[in-house]
Amino acid sequence: MTTRILEGKEFARQFKEDAGKKAAEWKEKYGMAPGLAVIIVGENPASQVYVRNKHKSCEELGIHSEVIAMPEETTKEELIARIDALNEDKKIHGILVQLPLPKQIAAHEAEILNRIAPVKDVDGFHPVNVGRLVTGEEGLVPCTPAGCIRMLELAGIPMDGKKAVVIGRSNIVGKPMFHLLLARNATVTVCHSHTQNLAEITRDADILVAAIGKPKFVTADMVKPGATVIDVGINRIAPKKLVGDVDFEQVKEVAGAITPVPGGVGLLTVAMLMQNVVKAMEMQMQMR
Ligand code: NDP
Repeated sequence: MTTRILEGKEFARQFKEDAGKKAAEWKEKYGMAPGLAVIIVGENPASQVYVRNKHKSCEELGIHSEVIAMPEETTKEELIARIDALNEDKKIHGILVQLPLPKQIAAHEAEILNRIAPVKDVDGFHPVNVGRLVTGEEGLVPCTPAGCIRMLELAGIPMDGKKAVVIGRSNIVGKPMFHLLLARNATVTVCHSHTQNLAEITRDADILVAAIGKPKFVTADMVKPGATVIDVGINRIAPKKLVGDVDFEQVKEVAGAITPVPGGVGLLTVAMLMQNVVKAMEMQMQMR
């Protein structure tokens, strides 16, 4: 049996193509392109790279993009005032605050993010969008887990009736992944740092999602032969070396399908963000 390598590049291209088509369609229909505003506070070099990538993707797809760079010493009140103005701005359909925030405002992260109007919350972090995901209502879903699910759908990997195990329970990846898999009729188990006999649980999974943040944590003995393994982890183990949460070389010998790192899930996130921006615009236009 040959293992299928799920290359992020191919799926990201497709997500972007779909978003670009929708952006052109909305422009024609509403006389205005979808718009994304990204606020970056301070000079974190990694954040600057992420923000540049988002801006570049918008430009490629005909999505209006504004990058709002605020100084390191920005106060909570200043940042909130900026978000309030963007909430009212008709050209902007998606608002994103790049994390992490500088330390003087990091403790207020939840209050700051919750100020974004739920309908413009393209990161899907607002409690209203979290609630919609849990109850199965239409809303904006965090980009990384949404991208993984879309990839599984496009790859034709069945979820209905399958056993899925998610390692990690963060609000950004693990928990939304649980709800998305459940909504597709998988039987889902969520594991975390207090889980006992982890390998026993993971060995039962038809679909195994690793979102832990520990290099090469998932080894071949933890994987059921033929399982689909989605590696969300991004761990820098040397200045130019990234590895996932899965020991790719080992696990690819056992898995039926697997995402590599780099070149896997990491590429899906920005592409999915573009889809969230066009979706946010459509939701806003329907509310008018
Ligand atoms: P968090 O640190 O918020 O969550 C990690 C989770 O892993 C926690 O729920 C934690 O459990 C669990 N965990 C830690 N150690 C163990 C263990 N020994 N056994 C079982 N579970 C364990 O991380 P994120 O969810 O934000 O990110 C996870 C990874 O995904 C990171 O590498 C991150 O860089 C990457 N990532 C990649 C993205 C992409 O675009 N591809 C986007 C977002 C994240 P507990 O809750 O008990 O502490």
